[in-house]
Amino acid sequence: MIAAIFKSAGVIEIDNKFPLRKLKKGEVIIEVANCGICGTDKHIFEGKAYAETPVILGHEYSGTVVELSDKSVLLKIGDKVAVDPNIYCGKCSECKKGNVHFCRNHQALGVTKNGGFAQYSIVPFSQVYLLPDNSDLSIAAFAEPLSCCLRGMQHANIKHGDSVVVIGGGSIGLIMIQLAKISGAAKIILIEPENLKRKLALKLGADLSISPFEADVENNISEYTSGGADVVIECAGKKEAVEMSVKISRKGGRVIIFGMSAKGEKVTLDLQYLFQKELQIFNSFLNPFTFGRAVELIISNKINFSSFVTKQIMLENINEAFNSSINSIIIKQQVSTKK
Ligand SMILES: [Zn+2]
Ligand SMILES: [Zn+2]
Repeated sequence: MIAAIFKSAGVIEIDNKFPLRKLKKGEVIIEVANCGICGTDKHIFEGKAYAETPVILGHEYSGTVVELSDKSVLLKIGDKVAVDPNIYCGKCSECKKGNVHFCRNHQALGVTKNGGFAQYSIVPFSQVYLLPDNSDLSIAAFAEPLSCCLRGMQHANIKHGDSVVVIGGGSIGLIMIQLAKISGAAKIILIEPENLKRKLALKLGADLSISPFEADVENNISEYTSGGADVVIECAGKKEAVEMSVKISRKGGRVIIFGMSAKGEKVTLDLQYLFQKELQIFNSFLNPFTFGRAVELIISNKINFSSFVTKQIMLENINEAFNSSINSIIIKQQVSTKK
């Protein structure tokens, strides 16, 4: 099969004859339809985040079941599915506490095991989520990022009537805006430098959309929310965005640092200012027990992904996507094996 092999920082090689190993019990072969390229993949490619090598990257994917190791009551050949890449052991002390995302033996398809930047992918039954036959697999490939956003939303704990600021209008930010809306937020504000993304945010549920370079963000937010946002969700993965999050949240507010920054990135925070604000600051890691709900939201069409500008890249041309800087109009790049 064709597969894109990540060898070391900066090197992804296309292998046209990558051998697919034999299935073990409890595994299924998925013909990959679409696999999103995520910020994490870019960090890995640049050597700024961990991955096993050599490995097939890609952890946001959907496809069709083409082979089963043994009979399953839940799956059959031809089923459309989404894949949860995070594999937990269920046996370690963290798993037993219910903190599966801190599993001591955590494995992830597309990071420590071969993932979705390939024609086919071997996936344990436990990671496969069945989709209706009429599903759009390009949209289903958003199940993984959506499931991670749902984990962030758990910490955000948005109440009806809250004001919510999202920093960063990429695919994650645009998902967060929509989740904030269905959670009952009264005022949703996006902070994003790119004009087209700001416009799209307004279409998807934001009430106000401002550029960090053109406006006095702190004052604007303070006025619009009468003293600061109840919830700030940082989705840029940048130090400046984290520092801004703290400034624009109200006293007693909740800040979710969601964006994944590069290894070693540090922020400067005024500790006395934090002390006086009694802020609640959260991080959000992986997607513990949220994948099923993400799939339900996708099936029921509650999140609009079709207005995201999604660029499809053929697997053979994957290096183009990793080597070029993203066109600012494109919200998501997906690798696909079919023309
Ligand atoms: Zn991702
Ligand atoms: Zn475990």
